[in-house]
Amino acid sequence: MDTILKTNITVKDICEGFVYNELEGKGLFGLAGKLTIQPEYQRNYIYAEEGREAAVIESVLKGYPIGLIYFNKVGNNKFEVLDGQQRITSLGRFITDKFALKDENGMQYFGTMAKDKKDKILETKLLIYECKGTESQIKEWFKTINIAGVPLKPQELLNAIYSGPFVTLAKEEFSNSQNANTQKWSAYISGIVNRQDFLEQALDWVSKGNIDDYMSRHREDTNIKELKTYFNSVIDWISSVFTDVEKEMRGLEWGRLYEKYRKKSYDPSKVSKAVQKLYGDPYIKNRKGIFEYILGGSVDTKLLNVRVFDEATKRAVYATQTAIAKKRKISNCPLCAVGHDTNKNKIWLFSEMDADHVSAWSKGGATDAKNCEMLCKTHNRAKGNR
Ligand SMILES: [Zn+2]
Repeated sequence: MDTILKTNITVKDICEGFVYNELEGKGLFGLAGKLTIQPEYQRNYIYAEEGREAAVIESVLKGYPIGLIYFNKVGNNKFEVLDGQQRITSLGRFITDKFALKDENGMQYFGTMAKDKKDKILETKLLIYECKGTESQIKEWFKTINIAGVPLKPQELLNAIYSGPFVTLAKEEFSNSQNANTQKWSAYISGIVNRQDFLEQALDWVSKGNIDDYMSRHREDTNIKELKTYFNSVIDWISSVFTDVEKEMRGLEWGRLYEKYRKKSYDPSKVSKAVQKLYGDPYIKNRKGIFEYILGGSVDTKLLNVRVFDEATKRAVYATQTAIAKKRKISNCPLCAVGHDTNKNKIWLFSEMDADHVSAWSKGGATDAKNCEMLCKTHNRAKGNR
């Protein structure tokens, strides 16, 4: 890959003919039409919402460097921004009065700034590397550079590496904050739409976790039918089984749950009652586990991380149980005591026993001393459905 360092291009040059697309949140062109600011493999403009664009302008005003910018030379006098899209878009947006700086005089738009300040910005020279290489060289390099500013997320990198018609269509559907469906999706998916979190989730579900492979196989596809259909099936399934929307539903492994449980049938009104009951249970420490617990037939209490007996309760119950057992010359494990082997008279140490719910938690048993029983470890393990 060839690179040439350019030091004579100014902010004014870069911003000549700057076009910003409000709808897509993209800076489109600059350098009098010779520069494409956001090629396909770049992510959406995110400086604005992170409050960083003002910092770019302030740096320029103070004469601080804003870092290296990389252009990819794609033709005779034609360039694409490889790295620096966000900084350039910040400059272009400021110069076209899309946002203001806050200073001691209030909000300062470029258009109303003092001439010396305007000139200072416009005449600032940028450090630009022009690169020329094959598409794969450029993409490989793009994958390895550590971009200044907000680091790329893995999905943003994958979008760069597998850019093509499939990624373009997929982004239109899943990375588009204008898509009205994202509201509904965000009940089950956590993350930020334009940081590719929803697209990543959709790809993760359809590919069963092999996003890289899926993207490479579908790279040249001119439709996203399978991706969209699968994604919608998962969402429809969740919202038909669980009619309630709880905040703990966000970010669960819905793809895995869908694959595992979609063939079972559920009565949504019964499911809803079960959800509400479990939400009201003070012993449940892991509410995120409620959904899989119900899907699996309400048996795997491990998913709920039910609060266990505390140390003081266990010690008190151990003392009482052991005193009675010694008097009656039987084991302090009630299950050993009724057995026929050598352990029927054994007095176990506290450390050799575990607490058990007399009446199972899943059948309404509480987690207090009255419902606590100490069992030897073997019997405790053997007793199911606790
Ligand atoms: Zn025992």
